Amino acid sequence: MDITPIIDKLGTGLFINGRWREAEGGKTINVRNPATGEIITTVADGSAADAEEAIAVAGDTQAEWAATSPRERSEILRRTFELLHDRADDIAAVMTAEMGKPFAESKGEVTYGAEFFRWFSEEAVRIEGDYSQSPDGKNRMLISREPVGPCILITPWNFPLAMGARKIGPAVAAGCTMVFKPAKLTPLTSLMLVDVLVEAGLPAGVLNLVTSDSARRVVTAWMESGIARKVTFTGSTEVGVGLLKQAADSVMKTSMELGGNAPFVVFADADIDKAVEGAVVAKMRNGGEACTAANRMFVHSSLAEEFSSRLAERIGSMKVGNGLDEGTEMGPLVDQDTLDKVAGLVDEAVTKGAKVLTGGTRIDGDGFFYTPTVLTDIPADAEIRTTEIFGPVAPIVTFDTDEQGIALANETEFGLVGYLFSENVERALGLADKLEVGMVGLNTGLVSNPAAPFGGVKMSGLGREGGRVGIDEFLEVKYVALPRS
Ligand code: NAP
Repeated sequence: MDITPIIDKLGTGLFINGRWREAEGGKTINVRNPATGEIITTVADGSAADAEEAIAVAGDTQAEWAATSPRERSEILRRTFELLHDRADDIAAVMTAEMGKPFAESKGEVTYGAEFFRWFSEEAVRIEGDYSQSPDGKNRMLISREPVGPCILITPWNFPLAMGARKIGPAVAAGCTMVFKPAKLTPLTSLMLVDVLVEAGLPAGVLNLVTSDSARRVVTAWMESGIARKVTFTGSTEVGVGLLKQAADSVMKTSMELGGNAPFVVFADADIDKAVEGAVVAKMRNGGEACTAANRMFVHSSLAEEFSSRLAERIGSMKVGNGLDEGTEMGPLVDQDTLDKVAGLVDEAVTKGAKVLTGGTRIDGDGFFYTPTVLTDIPADAEIRTTEIFGPVAPIVTFDTDEQGIALANETEFGLVGYLFSENVERALGLADKLEVGMVGLNTGLVSNPAAPFGGVKMSGLGREGGRVGIDEFLEVKYVALPRS
């Protein structure tokens, strides 16, 4: 598939106050295809001054945007949903070229991301308040919910469309203006999304995008501007913790979607067919480069041998290649650092005694390819048991009692999602209660859904995206007291 005609039409500058323009000094950064190493195009390398201009525009536009009707904002979101479907093939092709995942998965992400715009188009017109009498009968109490104000949006490279959609959708619905910094590895999908939003009728100044070689430079200018009232971040826990500290200086509202280390627990009464299918999805979606990826697999000893060999057979036969080629089931990892990290974790575990059932090797060539891998006999001190792998590697550990299974699952500072497999639903719900996570997949390897609250506990984050509560992250509550005469 040739994406050149799509790239040729794409604005690749900064988008500030409804206008595309170059970065200060005309600086640019290269965007590469991780399957080939080739440069796809360049995008603007925004400076601190560019960032300051963007946040000033967001501040200046806030009052006017907040005064628009919920129906008007809803209809912009609805048109965005429809346009994303119309453009799904083009956006998916560009996403695959810059990020690596197979075209079919990219298209799935466009559909998933579009659903956030549909969901929040429905939520925009349901921002409710409250009216009551004070308990002593002296006051009327009016409660309303107002936009929080200008928001800082920061997204990672692994789901270039969906992560932006989960933030822009509710911010538009709530009436917030935005400054948006996508990851430098995958900015092109976000540029296409901006185009779609503009065509859908988003007014100038509401969404301002700055790409940059230095995330810190741009984001610090925004955090210290005194204009932003909210930061919503998806990415690593390390960067999230730094942003929380910066946010404290101006008591800024925060939403943090941070790292995961998901346990995937197969209990003795699990249906093994469902467990293997669930493991393929939970592990191999996005080539394992997902915060929700099953990172540690705990399998009851009575099922471990069959489960491990069947999983190895399934993922070991997946076709690895350029995501734009027909039939590819897994693409490359996103860059050299990610490939080195994944290979290093496997090599360390194997040196300490882990067994390789399938994979365990890099694939020679220009791209950042690694073989889908299943490991067993993981030593207790192997780094792979505590680190977010972010690659196609399934480490399997056995256990004997439910208590052991749950204790192993909770033996982490993270708490985004956990997967449990058991055919006794009552028992499974009891086990789910004990899991220290924000989301649980019961007999399924996929939990993401725009209508559900997505988010984690512990070091995996603060706040929720999507669902009925998703819009609350972009609203403040105001109370008016009115004495009764
Ligand atoms: P990352 O390095 O934290 O980067 C995320 C975003 O933050 C990027 O836009 C990045 O910009 C920017 N950034 C980097 N350093 C920054 C700084 N000092 N100040 C402000 N912004 C900064 O994470 P990643 O490697 O892209 O993504 C992988 C991580 O995201 C994993 O831990 C994964 O679990 C997590 N994740 C979580 C969720 C969730 O919903 N919980 C979803 C997806 C991913 P540049 O890339 O341009 O440097």
